[in-house]
Amino acid sequence: MPGHISPCIVGGEKTFSSDGGVFRDVNPADIDDVVAVFPALSREDVRHAIDVARDAASGWAAITPADRGKILVKAAEIIDGNLEDFARTLTREEGKTLAESRAEVARSASILRFYGVMGYRLRGEITRSAEGRTHLFTVREPLGVVSIITPWNFPIAIPAWKIAPALVCGNTVVFKPASYTPLIAYMLADALHRAGLPPGVLNFVTGGGASVGMEMISNPKVAAISFTGSLLVGEEIKRVSAASNVRVQLELGGKNPAVVLDDADMEKAVEMAVRGAFGLTGQACTATSRVIVHEKVLDEFTEKLLLRVQRLRVGNGLDGNVDMGPVVGEKEMNNILQYIRTGVEEGARLLHGGERLAGDTHSRGYFLQPTVFTDVTPDMKIAQEEIFGPVLAIMRARNFDEAVDLANKIEYGLSASIFTRNLSRAFEFVERVEAGVVKINKPTTGIELHMPFGGFKKSSWGMAKEQGESALDFYTRVKTVYLGY
Ligand code: NAD
Repeated sequence: MPGHISPCIVGGEKTFSSDGGVFRDVNPADIDDVVAVFPALSREDVRHAIDVARDAASGWAAITPADRGKILVKAAEIIDGNLEDFARTLTREEGKTLAESRAEVARSASILRFYGVMGYRLRGEITRSAEGRTHLFTVREPLGVVSIITPWNFPIAIPAWKIAPALVCGNTVVFKPASYTPLIAYMLADALHRAGLPPGVLNFVTGGGASVGMEMISNPKVAAISFTGSLLVGEEIKRVSAASNVRVQLELGGKNPAVVLDDADMEKAVEMAVRGAFGLTGQACTATSRVIVHEKVLDEFTEKLLLRVQRLRVGNGLDGNVDMGPVVGEKEMNNILQYIRTGVEEGARLLHGGERLAGDTHSRGYFLQPTVFTDVTPDMKIAQEEIFGPVLAIMRARNFDEAVDLANKIEYGLSASIFTRNLSRAFEFVERVEAGVVKINKPTTGIELHMPFGGFKKSSWGMAKEQGESALDFYTRVKTVYLGY
């Protein structure tokens, strides 16, 4: 156990829990490796952090967006300059492979840079009036204090894509990371402070969802809440915030389909399905959890996929030869194993995997075999619920229409792919599929930072998408100005 406790940051100062509470941050590939110990703040501590953010709000809003943006760009340089250190921390703490961590850290720096430049482009609307001698335009204003609550699966990219637009728009922030991954989140907050962020503008708080999180969603001084995480907690936030005027953005789960038609490039479809299902150990909200395959090519696809999955190497992400790291925690691992048992009980056929890995290299971590089910039907739990682990369900479709129906027969609507060489089919899929992100001949995972991101149905809730310029709509309020002359 490390000798010291890592700090929170409130008002630019290192801060600890007033009641001495702490929690441990453990490496999921090696549970003897305690990565850090962080404070478990009390609700009172968080109330103080929100007060500090509120006190800093008018000063920060008075700085020009371009100058605010310069701090983000400088923080991006700090992250890029320490990329390897950030990536190794991320892998140690969350488990993903080093290649995946490097990509996430590099992307986080790009996000800061993108919104940094947006400081020069916080645009409004301008239009001709219906009356004479009148000029009409809009201006954007910050909201005030924003609560940002994030999950562990992209523990630096998601905080970056919320915090950066919030700050460049002139808001102050109270930010809580998931308790599995506080250290990489701390490193982001620290980089922003080292880049020159004034005290109190970004307050980094750690601790439990029911205490720290609950204060952040119910405190009346908070003007907006941006949350990414599970449907369950998302629904709770909706309930708690319903009676107030707080602005809420919820990015929740997914159960994403990849449709493979009979004219698809089969090698590519297999490769992309494997990447979508088992990349990031299947712990991505956009992970491919169902492949819906045209019956004419079902056998060929299944055979090729099996060969490819058998070659996946599972192990500690810090080892360069690994394709898939552990799942993040014991609770998550047991939950995934329970879904696998349910799949078998419901009559799906277990084609590959299904078990926890044992033996020298695996016994100290939460390693699961990549798991593939066939003969999955739409009524089964494994076809309906988000498993959030390395489990792929293969489903049969008699034709294109049935494939689209199956793709849509779920509560979620985050991302969806189709593999085909037929342009008409591809466009028909774009029109008919109920998903906020649609990909053609590309995996369901992997999104670009300068385009809007968010889902339909139960996957998202709120008035504005994340990322790209749409993020600016969430973090500002718009004032319409009538100027007569
Ligand atoms: P989670 O909902 O358990 O936790 C998310 C965050 O909420 C954590 O910081 C947690 O401490 C906090 N929290 C818990 N209870 C709270 C409460 N009552 N009030 C306020 N905050 C509370 O989710 P997780 O296990 O960290 O992440 C996995 C989930 O995130 C999956 O469902 C996944 O699909 C989803 N996710 C969605 C997206 C997206 O963009 N749609 C992206 C990544 C992950």
